[in-house]
Amino acid sequence: MPEPVAFRPVQGSLPPRDAIPPGDTWDLTAICRDWDEWTRTYHDLESEVGAFGELRGTLAQGANHLLAAFRAMDTMGALSYRVWYFASLHYDQDQRDNAIDARRQQVQILFARQQQTGSWFNPELLAIPLETVRDWIGASAELGVYGFAIESLFHEQEHVLDEQGERLMSFAGRFNSVPHDSYAALTTADAKFPSITIGGGEQVTLSYGQYRALLETNRRQEDRAAAYRAFHRTYADNQNTYAALYNGVLQRDWFHARARGYDTTLDAALHGNNIPTSVVESLIAGTRQGVEPLRRYHRLRRRVLGVESYRLFDVALSLIEHDVRYPYSDVGDWVVDSVAPLGEAYQQHVRQAFDERWIDVYENVGKRSGAYSAPVYGAHPYMLLNYNETLDSVFTLAHEMGHSMHTLLSHQTQPFVYAGYTIFVAEVPSTLSEALFLDLMLERARSREERIVLLQHAIDSIASTFYTQVLFAEFELEAHRLVEQDRPVTADVLNTLYATLLRDYYGDVIDEDEMSRVTWARIPHFFSTPYYVYQYATCFASTAKIMQGLRAPGAGARAERVDQYLSLLRAGGSDYPMSLLAQAGVDLSQPDTVLAVATELNALVERLETELAS
Ligand SMILES: [Zn+2]
Repeated sequence: MPEPVAFRPVQGSLPPRDAIPPGDTWDLTAICRDWDEWTRTYHDLESEVGAFGELRGTLAQGANHLLAAFRAMDTMGALSYRVWYFASLHYDQDQRDNAIDARRQQVQILFARQQQTGSWFNPELLAIPLETVRDWIGASAELGVYGFAIESLFHEQEHVLDEQGERLMSFAGRFNSVPHDSYAALTTADAKFPSITIGGGEQVTLSYGQYRALLETNRRQEDRAAAYRAFHRTYADNQNTYAALYNGVLQRDWFHARARGYDTTLDAALHGNNIPTSVVESLIAGTRQGVEPLRRYHRLRRRVLGVESYRLFDVALSLIEHDVRYPYSDVGDWVVDSVAPLGEAYQQHVRQAFDERWIDVYENVGKRSGAYSAPVYGAHPYMLLNYNETLDSVFTLAHEMGHSMHTLLSHQTQPFVYAGYTIFVAEVPSTLSEALFLDLMLERARSREERIVLLQHAIDSIASTFYTQVLFAEFELEAHRLVEQDRPVTADVLNTLYATLLRDYYGDVIDEDEMSRVTWARIPHFFSTPYYVYQYATCFASTAKIMQGLRAPGAGARAERVDQYLSLLRAGGSDYPMSLLAQAGVDLSQPDTVLAVATELNALVERLETELAS
């Protein structure tokens, strides 16, 4: 029997799903054996939801009643994972399937009902004095499990208003999303992508994907400049509208903060996760101290690209042309090898993900785009990829594997109530997994070209996931402060703020361009999720700090760091993120945590300089 030939995706063609070998698709039977079992599970959830409504009015009767309600919520929660993901993962395989879409929507409708019939729980619990609940927790080990969940609910309660106040807030809630909805309409539904003519007379329509690809690969600076200017022209032409919409976001946030009794919008944003505002402030201060390696990288790029004037449209271009393909059949072993520093048991789990079909590898007709790791409680994590053999897609696999191992260890260790984790820690294991993978790839790279491509990939990801996000965080913090101090918000004010930040971070390394001032308008996060992006940067800094420990000399010290790190993963959502990270030896209020990124970047730039000079 000849060896079966491994499947390889063909560029520019999209296979039907049944052309993909089953071994490269995920096996969803760990969630439900078939649709019959799914239907039974769905009905189980339905009756649990009904039963939960009957507990209403019982909580104040004592610890046992509260415990019963928490346990009922756990049961519903665990069933919800299986019911939702079996339908939604099937749907993502081929989103054209209406029958599966209908089942998925059926689950969403049940979830909405669940939310309605369960809405009595929080107010009823919060009506019991905290001291009484603490006495119950102290007297019952079983209820004690829910201690942190209860404490954090009461913590959130600190800024909940009385009934009349909450009623008013809920009325206001109806127009909360207007600035963002208008932004989305202006940038997507009503957007007209500009067309430009490039070098050889070729006409290119600048959708976002086309635009990015052009900046990364087109070696003619005039083409990149033309694309950059045409792409941002639409923003510049509407800058007063964008400024007015952003002012809407700022005013709304300030309204919420003041109505709920917070001192600032930042306090309001960080309260839920119990994160001190000094974390964001020291992130910004530390990053500003550590901009030199970033500038060093751009000076190097200016030299290597040989451009007379180096602009923002030059920062994404690949330093060398080198098109390596990474067949999926090779990379599985590499991913397993790369996590060797985390120990054999961890490696075994990663191996299991490949062997037991947790991964849906290739693109097919109708499949959802992008990549994710789905935390299916009661089964195991599943990963959706659209693997296309590029370096990006290899790192995406390493990234999603990090999320999946976090999920696995947390689900294995924590009771249901703490099995999930917040975004504030979520991107630590994924970026750490990428960092370990980079170490291995650099070690095994066969040529100078390959090393250069890998180093640029790593450096660009620090620039975009860390430095750019901190710059964004500083922009939104300063913009919010404008309204907090009753100062006007106009396009001029926002453009000047943004241009100043670009100068502060890049110095004179990147030549200024009139158009760059308005590029803040292009960042959807500012309009959709204020005070969100800083978390990418804090996660990245935490990862850099943990990586320093994992690379430390001395096997004993390293083993201790590995233990600390794995306990962070096992801890799931059992505490506030700052306390969880502290267990892994990360203190985000310390500037040296943030500076770990600058140190790492500097080392990578130095290596890149050496490779380029050889
Ligand atoms: Zn991620």
